[in-house]
Amino acid sequence: MSHERHQPSVAYFCMEYGLSESLTIYSGGLGVLAGDFLRAAHALALPLVGVGIAWSEGYTEQRITAGGHAEDHPAALDRRLLHREPQTVSVTISGHEVPLAIHRVDAFANAPLYLLEPVEARDRWITRRLYGGGEDERVAQEIVLGVGGVRALEALGLAIDLHHFNEGHAVFAGLELIRRGRERGLSFEAAWAQARSRIVFTTHTPVDAGNEKHDLERLRRMGARLDLSAHELERIGGRPFNMTVAGLRLATRANAVAELHGETARKMWSHIEDGAPIFAITNGVDHRVWQDARIRDAASDEALTSAREACRSELRDEVRRACGVELDPRALTIGFARRATAYKRPTLLFHDRARAEALLDSGRVQLVFAGKAHPRDAGGRALIAELVALSRRHPGRVVFLPDYDLRLGRLLTRGCDVWLNTPRRPLEACGTSGMKAAMNGVLNVSILDGWWVEGCEHNVTGWRIGDERAHEAEADADRADADALHALLQDEVLPAFTDRARWLSMMRASIEMAVERFSADRMVRDYYQTLYREAPLRKAASGG
Ligand SMILES: *Cc1c(COP(=O)(O)O)cnc(C)c1O
Repeated sequence: MSHERHQPSVAYFCMEYGLSESLTIYSGGLGVLAGDFLRAAHALALPLVGVGIAWSEGYTEQRITAGGHAEDHPAALDRRLLHREPQTVSVTISGHEVPLAIHRVDAFANAPLYLLEPVEARDRWITRRLYGGGEDERVAQEIVLGVGGVRALEALGLAIDLHHFNEGHAVFAGLELIRRGRERGLSFEAAWAQARSRIVFTTHTPVDAGNEKHDLERLRRMGARLDLSAHELERIGGRPFNMTVAGLRLATRANAVAELHGETARKMWSHIEDGAPIFAITNGVDHRVWQDARIRDAASDEALTSAREACRSELRDEVRRACGVELDPRALTIGFARRATAYKRPTLLFHDRARAEALLDSGRVQLVFAGKAHPRDAGGRALIAELVALSRRHPGRVVFLPDYDLRLGRLLTRGCDVWLNTPRRPLEACGTSGMKAAMNGVLNVSILDGWWVEGCEHNVTGWRIGDERAHEAEADADRADADALHALLQDEVLPAFTDRARWLSMMRASIEMAVERFSADRMVRDYYQTLYREAPLRKAASGG
């Protein structure tokens, strides 16, 4: 028997995982991506494990009040999905030892996922809520994920070749690897270089404010500095300590999540001269979860038409159940479901209100919105209130579905006719809901940003809104994009929708494009070929 392994064994670190709506440890795109990653790795039988946190309250359930505002109701974690491992590890936070339990999750046909959680009730403030609390809580959470994660992998006896930090939240794992190298007698430089050969990093945000920074003094006080001096810490992450910069300096290779995002990220971080090279690996989605089986199996036009009608009808049922609204089965249903945040411009269609109202009054179009705002994002909450107000002003023509989650995501990316995306370019790093829609024959109408730069063949797989021109002022870009969107709907999308043969052939082109090029299987293979290649392979764990 050969003991040679050809694939590195990888530990994938992420703050959130969207594996199922019943496992409430995710908030949005990052988690859904991580969940799809673990499922694809499992399907491809690759030696990969996930590391995350067992959030007591998960993310928020968001309901809408009679006054039209978002109201948060955090859901408790369903512990039946967790299996506690016998090992316990501990980390030091603000001078206190915090013992951590390790829970395994493998109920969703996923690569094993290990979730950390403080054993003692007195320490549970740390992991109470995903992205909850203030900066101290955040640093404490990141110590649990990074430092606790490395210790847990060792306690479990897993020989890990590569540590993949999916976003900057896990970079303290890199400091822990350096600390261990020094324990074995290496200099700081040598320990850093050795740790670096075993770390890769994915950056997700082209929005500057989205890149987390921490004060060096806070890191020292809380114990995140481990045994490093302030000077050493600063060499890795700068001052204040930037988690993305640290990720780039701790990793041997890094990546952005779409081709255009790769260009943006390389420009954005060009001043980090000793950072890892940034490759581009475009995200993908797990077709086993996101593509409707009836659509997948529809060989004939009749079968595709009836699968589409079934999906549309299921969405109408959900809208009736959730909002008491009856959608029109003949109208073009435009879907828009995303985290509520300004750069995504959910109300772009209403930029010219008279024009939007004329379109809605024509009865040819209906809009279905869904989205959550971060509990402390006032701007996002205001956008939700605006969407709810629009739905009340246009009953039956505009719908807002509260509490966007994986289940609603599945219904919407199957049941709409068109999937709308209107980010301010180039702020959408990738976007994955459009891939889910495309796989189901829901045609994308989108700004050329993120993955759509690669997936769009105008008038064939879907449509682009406007062009790639850059506007100096946001207001000019908004006006130009809103005009282009209205013109596109009138001149291209609505006529195509009434031409059955045309719509069928576009749906086929969309499905084929998405399944071939934007599946999570393709994404995971790309990670092995680009980011994980040439990893130094360690001996298997059985040898000790
Ligand atoms: C797919 C998905 C996302 C991410 O999609 P984007 O296009 O990046 O917004 C977020 N939330 C849920 C529930 C999803 O299913």
